[in-house]
Amino acid sequence: MRILFPAAEVAPFSKTGGLADVAGALPKALARLGHEVLVVTPWYAKLGGGASPYWVGDVPSPFDRGFEAVGVGVLEDAVPGTGSLRYAFVGHQDFRRARPYGYPDDARRFARFSRAVPSVAERLAFVPDLVHAHDWHTGYLPMLLARGWHLPPGFPGLRSVFTVHNVQYQGESSLEDAVRWLRLGPDLMGSYLDHFGRANAMQAGVGFATRVTTVSPTYAEEIQTPEYGYSLDGTFRSLSGKLTGILNGIDTDVWDPARDPALPEPYSAADLAGKPAAKAALARRFDLEARRPLLAVVSRLAEQKGMDLLVAAAPGLLERGWSLVVLGAGDPGLEEAVADLARAHGGLVGAHIGYDEDLAHLVYAGADALVVPSRFEPCGLSQLIAMRYGTVPIVRATGGLKDTVRHGATGFVFEHATSAGLEWAAGEALAAYGTPVWRRIQATGMAADRSWHASAAAYSALYESVLRSWV
Ligand code: ADP
Repeated sequence: MRILFPAAEVAPFSKTGGLADVAGALPKALARLGHEVLVVTPWYAKLGGGASPYWVGDVPSPFDRGFEAVGVGVLEDAVPGTGSLRYAFVGHQDFRRARPYGYPDDARRFARFSRAVPSVAERLAFVPDLVHAHDWHTGYLPMLLARGWHLPPGFPGLRSVFTVHNVQYQGESSLEDAVRWLRLGPDLMGSYLDHFGRANAMQAGVGFATRVTTVSPTYAEEIQTPEYGYSLDGTFRSLSGKLTGILNGIDTDVWDPARDPALPEPYSAADLAGKPAAKAALARRFDLEARRPLLAVVSRLAEQKGMDLLVAAAPGLLERGWSLVVLGAGDPGLEEAVADLARAHGGLVGAHIGYDEDLAHLVYAGADALVVPSRFEPCGLSQLIAMRYGTVPIVRATGGLKDTVRHGATGFVFEHATSAGLEWAAGEALAAYGTPVWRRIQATGMAADRSWHASAAAYSALYESVLRSWV
């Protein structure tokens, strides 16, 4: 099957969070299952992974009352052994910025990107069987396929799968602007594009796609409630018949303690002897007392991630005997609070405010436990990575965290998003630390298959059903 796979961030070329991990790993796994995949992503000013696409030329793309030229870059054979996987990069002045998003004109930038995707595929002679779009940045695509004009042959009426990675970010703009950018007709007013009089890219994706997925079964349920639906819960409830949850995997080529160049010594489930070396290296890096059990965080510093709960719980955790390492960036107030914590508790708390891929590897390996106190968590990758590194997850029971960590079996789970809940679970973990129970939890977590294999097979089955379905 030929799958067109547009995404705003794709590891290793660009990354702000889990979406990049998914868009990096899932296409590889799909290609290994025999699918032909074209991943399309913006050509940002700086691409990671040493990528330098070759420029194929410009193509005209319909946008804002006319047509405009966008550049097409291509990377082939980026992944050895997956010849059926190609990457296309969409070039435009709008994308030549330091970060993928976080700008006031993001809605327009990603309308431009979505509009260009079919033209870019056509330029590369890629006629897909279906489109798999992701999150609000590409939410307009299912709508364009259903209702758009000026589409290349093969695209009008094409079926689509839309995956919701995080419903909090929806890509809102004025309706008039959105239909003008996308060159759509006024009949879209009152459609799924229209959310209380505003254009909503996330809802357009959900409403117009043939099938909708989220990245865990529990999150698929949660977003149908007002607490988690961020005003789209009614939309999700009314469309629940086409909504399912498929858990993310992790890229086991990238995340493997047995061949991770960022670690001082390799280790594996069969032989954990190299793990203490990682802990010692981590403790040295932050000048921490090496004998204490070490709790870690690798996360965006955001309210969603419950980082305020961690800051509130930290003094109690240190008193009970933990030390703490935080690697994260995001909300300036939380960055400040974490930095203050490290200043106030030298020798017990280490903090690195920023985004650092190599350090993340060392933290996952060197910590004894990883804490993920999220208020909501669509899937969560950090707990999966931690388990693969023999690091015990302490998580809140929400979304994918609830689906992947079992209390007392593969980690520790608390119910309520409060610092007391977090402290309770950390207390349970401390009681098990150093005992055979702890080693059993480590072994069970490391043995679990977290690769993309099972998830890719589930997506593949979904694609088949989309092509067979009569709606
Ligand atoms: P989200 O997408 O909501 O941020 P996920 O758990 O799905 O959360 O994915 C987060 C990804 O980003 C993981 O791969 C994690 O290791 C990585 N990450 C988060 N913060 C940092 C950081 N400061 N430095 C390095 N990697 C980070």
